[in-house]
Parts: sequence; C-alpha cells; structure tokens
Amino acid sequence: MAETKPRNPMPQQDPAVRIKNFDEVALGYTEELALAEAARCLNCPKKPCVAGCPVNIDIPKFIELIKNKDYIGAAREIKKTNSLPAICGRVCPQEEQCEKVCVLARKYEPVAIGRLERFAADYEAACANPFDVPKPSNPELSKYHVAVIGSGPAGLTVAGDLAKMGYSVTIFEALHKLGGVLRYGIPEFRLPRAVLDREIDYVKSLGVTFLTNVIIGRTFRLNALLEQGYDAVFIGTGAGAPKLLGIPGENLSGIYSGNEWLTRINLMRAHRDDYATPLKKPKKVCVVGAGNTAMDCARTALRVGAEKVMIVYRRSRAEMPARAEEVENAEQEGVVFQLLTNPKRFISDDNGAVRAMECLRMELGEPDESCRRRPIAVEGSEFEIECDMVIVALGQNPNPLIRQTTEGLETESWGGIIIDPETGMTSIPGVFAGGDAVTGEATVISAMGAGKIAARGIDKYIREKYGLE
Ligand SMILES: Cc1cc2nc3c(=O)[nH]c(=O)nc-3n(C[C@H](O)[C@H](O)[C@H](O)COP(=O)(O)OP(=O)(O)OC[C@H]3O[C@@H](n4cnc5c(N)ncnc54)[C@H](O)[C@@H]3O)c2cc1C
Ligand code: SF4
Repeated sequence: MAETKPRNPMPQQDPAVRIKNFDEVALGYTEELALAEAARCLNCPKKPCVAGCPVNIDIPKFIELIKNKDYIGAAREIKKTNSLPAICGRVCPQEEQCEKVCVLARKYEPVAIGRLERFAADYEAACANPFDVPKPSNPELSKYHVAVIGSGPAGLTVAGDLAKMGYSVTIFEALHKLGGVLRYGIPEFRLPRAVLDREIDYVKSLGVTFLTNVIIGRTFRLNALLEQGYDAVFIGTGAGAPKLLGIPGENLSGIYSGNEWLTRINLMRAHRDDYATPLKKPKKVCVVGAGNTAMDCARTALRVGAEKVMIVYRRSRAEMPARAEEVENAEQEGVVFQLLTNPKRFISDDNGAVRAMECLRMELGEPDESCRRRPIAVEGSEFEIECDMVIVALGQNPNPLIRQTTEGLETESWGGIIIDPETGMTSIPGVFAGGDAVTGEATVISAMGAGKIAARGIDKYIREKYGLE
C-alpha cells in the first residue's frame, strides 16, 4: 500500500467561540486540503467504498475528478445517485459506511470521503448553476401522478428520482417548512439552513410540487389521494413520536422530549428575540440518552446559555450510539458525561418545576438482544443530580397517524410500516413506504436508500399497471 499520509483534518470553529453562536462548526476543506485528501485515494479496482454507500455513489470516480480539479464534474457525478450531496457530506455516518470499508482503513486512516463530497457540492453551489438539472428521461411519463407524504430525506429522494424519470410528483408536508428532521431536528451548527434550502430547491427545480401544512390522516386521508387519481403514493412520514422514560415526575415543567426541545429552537426559533416561541432559559441541564439527538440537544442547550450541561447515560462510553465526531465535538464544547447512570425519578420544586433527578449507578452485565452490554442497577446507589431542565432524548418511534387512519395498512407492533424490501410496496397495492416510518429512527442516507428502492418499485408498478415499455 503506497499511501500512508494521515487524513487531512477538518478546519473547525474554536470551541470557546462556537458555543456562543449557531454557525456551522466544521468549516469545510479548502481547495488545497481537498486536493491533498483526494490524492490519498488509491482508485482501487474493486472499490469497496461504493458498495459501502447506501446509494452507491461512484466514489473513486468523483474523487478522481477532484484530483483533476474538475470540482463541478465531481458534484455532478455524485448527483447522478444522490440529490442531497451537501447534506450527506455533512451528516452521514461515513465512518460506519463507505469509510469503514475503504481499503486504506485496514492499515491507516480511511479517505475522508464525506468531507470531499461536501467540498464538491459546496464548490458547485458557489461557482456554477446547481440547478442546471438533467432533463426527464421520459417526458411521456408526466401524465402519471405520484403523491409523496413527508418531505424528509426519504420523500425528497423518491420525489427527485421519479421526477428525473419524468413522473409528475407532489409532496404533501404536515409542517409549514420542508425537510423533516433535517430542518426541525439537526441543528444549524451541523447543517446550515442555507445548505438545506439549496438542496430542497434543487429537488424543486426537477419539477416536484410541494404542498405544506397538509396532514395526511387529518386534512384528508391517504385513500383520498388514490381516489383523487394519484397512480401511486409513497409514505415517508418518519419517526417523530418520542420514547419516554415512564418514571415518576416526567410531567413536571422543565422536562422536554428531545424532539420538542430541538423543534422549538430549530423550527420555531425560540432562542431568537424576534420570534414569539416561549423558551425557559436553563442553568443546569441534564440530557438523558447518548445518540445523535442527545448530543444535538446538549450542544443546543449550551448555545442558548446554559451554565452546565450533562449527558446522562446508563451504559459506558463504548456503547454510546452517537457518531464519534459528535461526541468529541460535545466534549470540546464542555458537555459533561455522566455515564453508567440511570434516572429513577424527577424531583419537583415548590412550583411544580423539575429541581433534581434521582439516579441509580449502573454496572454492565452480559450483552443483550441489541448486542450491547446490559446495564444493571447497583442496589442502594441512589443519588441526586440538581437541574432545572431535563431533555429526554431516547429516540423516536414512527408517527401513528397514517396507520391509525389507513385501512389495510399492515404495521409492526411497534408501529413500523411493513413493506416488501425489494420494491418498498406496503400491504396496499400502489402504496409504498420507506425511511424511518418503516425502520424506526435510522439515518439520512438509509432513508434516501429506501427512497431509491421505492422510486424503482413505483416506476415498475406504474409501468406494469399501464402496460408501458
Ligand atoms: C436530532 C436528530 C439528529 C439526527 N442526526 C443524524 C445525523 O447526524 N446523521 C444521520 O444520518 N441521521 C441523523 N438523524 C436521523 C435522520 O435524520 C433520520 O433517520 C431521517 O431524517 C429519516 O428521514 P425520513 O424521510 O424517513 O423522515 P423525516 O426526516 O422524519 O421526515 C418525515 C416528514 O414527514 C412529515 N410528516 C409526518 N407525518 C405526516 C403526515 N401525516 N402528513 C404529511 N407529512 C407528515 C414530517 O413533518 C416530516 O417532515 C438524526 C435524527 C434526529 C432526530
Ligand atoms: S476504497 Fe478508499 S482508497 Fe479505495 S477507491 Fe474507495 S475511497 Fe479510494
């Protein structure tokens, strides 16, 4: 193996400065850094990185284009399979996907594929017309209409892929803004809104129509879409129903679910004086959980001025599900990790607000069904953590509304919609689903991968239904 240079670090905002603003933490590669990083790629004949990418971007090809300084060509190569490259370059867990199987990772550090993806996408946005879009491959298909429910990464991908084929696509979104978790969950310091808006505008420029403030199952039911003449429907409603602890005191004021806390800040702009969303300014915050949502909640709490922010997690550091990079960022910013600790009950002040959390110390036993070592409470180890705000960030289950209002839609006992994994079709012919609504909370790129499968499934279904070539 010829290349042994370490990978090029990502320039970042200083932690002391960034905890006082919502600007992006990672500043992006300069051209010089991108060229140096691209030079590390071996352009392997077997290219395992491509199979490691859930949407199969031709990674060595786009890196080769960067090496040749054809940055716009690199962005267009990525966009052949991924309509949201600047988003994926920022938030994908590359360390678990393409970078994990990069040949260099066997002995050295893998190529920083995500950082190069972000560089190419940002370069294109700055220096070319990103809406120089491909023409629909078959304009005849425009007489067939597809409804997409939800504008998260799954819905945006299905819509973009079908529009590229030539179909007429309408996205119905319950909220007043588009993007799903990309907008209301992931904070601006990881994914700036200008980048999100830019990539949604690209999907719009492919010809997709967007209707906001339409809650399918409440404004009208899914069956009404089929009755209105849509040839197929895709359900990409995500997983927005928070999991709670179910312990005494969880209804006290000052206790939020991770989703509520992040939505107040990211969507409703509660931290800004020019918005009316109420926000109690916290002093001591406990965030329960250790996934990406928990890190986002903790780092957001610091940015709205909390004096002390603690992550409380019942297992050890090795089992934390958040991306390693986000854990490091949180640590650099001063978030304190209280590991092997589990809340037992919340304690109120005289006004019905949370004053403290009673916790138990834990130790780890044998691995459980999740293959992580099971936490066991140490008897008699109760202790109190003082706090005036608690954010419970334990993950989300699929939203129940569609399954409760759609006859014949088969779901798992925990709420996930059951699909044929080959096509994305549900138990109702012509109705497809994908993303977190099927799997429970997963990742942006897995939702996009599911969107691509469903787009192919919908195309096949419509072609068979109408006897098209
Ligand atoms: C705080 C947080 C941080 C995360 N960080 C990362 C990360 O760094 N990297 C990563 O890869 N993944 C991350 N994830 C997970 C990732 O964001 C999700 O897996 C992904 O967004 C799922 O996409 P989706 O399209 O299935 O659903 P969503 O993004 O949830 O979008 C669903 C959309 O459907 C709409 N909707 C729901 N019900 C209806 C209805 N009845 N009618 C109309 N519209 C409806 C919703 O309003 C929403 O806009 C994070 C998740 C959270 C919560
Ligand atoms: S596996 Fe790594 S080194 Fe090989 S082509 Fe892919 S990115 Fe380049």
